Amino acid sequence: MNRPQRTAIVTGAARGIGRAVALRLAADGMSVAVLDLEETACQVVVKEIEAAGGRALAVAADVSGESAVEQATQRVAAELGAPTVLVNNAGVLRDNLLFKMSVQDWDTVMDVHLKGAFLLARATQQYMIGEGWGRIVNLSSSSALGNRGQSNYAAAKAGLQGFTKTLALELGRFGVTANAVAPGFIETDMTAATAARMGVPFDDFTRAVVAQIPVGRAGQPQDIAATISFLAGEDSGFVSGQVIYVAGGPRN
Ligand code: NAP
Repeated sequence: MNRPQRTAIVTGAARGIGRAVALRLAADGMSVAVLDLEETACQVVVKEIEAAGGRALAVAADVSGESAVEQATQRVAAELGAPTVLVNNAGVLRDNLLFKMSVQDWDTVMDVHLKGAFLLARATQQYMIGEGWGRIVNLSSSSALGNRGQSNYAAAKAGLQGFTKTLALELGRFGVTANAVAPGFIETDMTAATAARMGVPFDDFTRAVVAQIPVGRAGQPQDIAATISFLAGEDSGFVSGQVIYVAGGPRN
């Protein structure tokens, strides 16, 4: 079957889950804007995609900046094509117990996860509506259910679930779906940083977490990329407003 050429924006795509998603969507045949803070880091992923025969563009932007997001989206539209797939993946942690959490730690997490997802969705929706087709996937987390030391992150990730469901309601009539993927424990720099902050070697940290995961292994970025590949693809048009926990079991 002839599939239309789609253009995707993946934020936070220079490493971790975002990189795996960018590689996967490119392998699926999409043109991919690899968006992250540092241009050179984006270029590394772009080269990987091109080496595999795909098409990609490095886009340096801070997802929490309104004009940066507008400019980045316009550039993607001009150089790659109308961005009708959006994966809001960029993320940061500023973990602390409530009594030690600064306003800045709170604001940074809200700005990157929540405001970033809002700005990207607002900037790209016109292209999706114009094409009568679109896919938005927001990265939530099992931490949305509550996690000690992460009141800011848990609130942002739970907020993204409400945001996702509302986008599904507003945009469905235009052929646009919105879903959230909520990973459990995935081996990336982010979880390595959590182990380091707790003063535990990453291998020990991973072993302890895996003991609680029903499928008996840690998640890999490719596990998330595979789920997003379905939600971003042609065959998922009747799946919208959902939160899919990709966590090796019903919890974590
Ligand atoms: P990661 O390895 O830390 O990668 C996050 C990426 O986002 C980095 O490349 C980072 O750039 C980029 N980024 C941060 N702030 C940004 C901004 N303002 N604008 C643009 N890019 C920005 O994280 P990950 O583990 O792959 O996580 C990806 C997503 O999945 C996040 O939303 C995270 O909350 C979520 N998640 C992860 C897990 C897990 O177990 N790993 C579990 C649940 C949910 P720099 O490198 O320059 O900082």
